[in-house]
Amino acid sequence: MNTINNYLSIVEYIKNSESSNAKIISVSKTFSEEKILPLLKNGSIHFGENKVQEAQTKWPILKNKFPQAKLHMIGKLQSNKAKKAFEIFDYIHSLDNEKLADILSKEEIKTGKKIIYFIQVNVGMENQKSGIEKKFLKDFFNYCANEKKLNVVGLMAIPPNDGNEDKHFKYLYDANESLGLKELSMGMSADFKIALKYKATFLRIGSLIFGNRN
Ligand SMILES: *Cc1c(COP(=O)(O)O)cnc(C)c1O
Repeated sequence: MNTINNYLSIVEYIKNSESSNAKIISVSKTFSEEKILPLLKNGSIHFGENKVQEAQTKWPILKNKFPQAKLHMIGKLQSNKAKKAFEIFDYIHSLDNEKLADILSKEEIKTGKKIIYFIQVNVGMENQKSGIEKKFLKDFFNYCANEKKLNVVGLMAIPPNDGNEDKHFKYLYDANESLGLKELSMGMSADFKIALKYKATFLRIGSLIFGNRN
């Protein structure tokens, strides 16, 4: 697997797409530092992990060497890991409940540090999936942004693989616009081309760059 070539061919695709300024988050979960290093050396900035523990063992050293790197938490975040996540991540894409917002806001006040948030929406209304329900989105956004003063820059979703990706991405785009938000975290290896049609600004791409995970 030539990760750099894989990455660059996605960059090329983005340039000619409807969302030509979209950024790639290279999702490095399960992959070792050795696999990540070539991308860092090549100037990639954004990386995604879905487990706090794994990020904690891999990233402090990498970030020391490559201080320009930005780390994105894209997986479900348990309340008891929120404080640790706040310490090591630059972005959290999985903000989806008030308890989490309360803990993160408390950390911001205590430390004086601010990080960047996406609110995750359960666009497919799937019982087992994380994300705030659509009908609570507006109130939850107001809670996070206005009451808790979290820097929410956009919405995030993992749509179900049900053939309705267009519909789900369009919903997220419209909801983002109606809240006046500028960033949109959607699109993975299998569906990033569709996400770009609906103006995704952050694509979260793992296997297409790093190969299959075991
Ligand atoms: C693993 C993961 C990705 C990347 O998935 P690929 O299909 O490998 O591109 C994107 N988003 C989230 C939330 C993930 O957990």
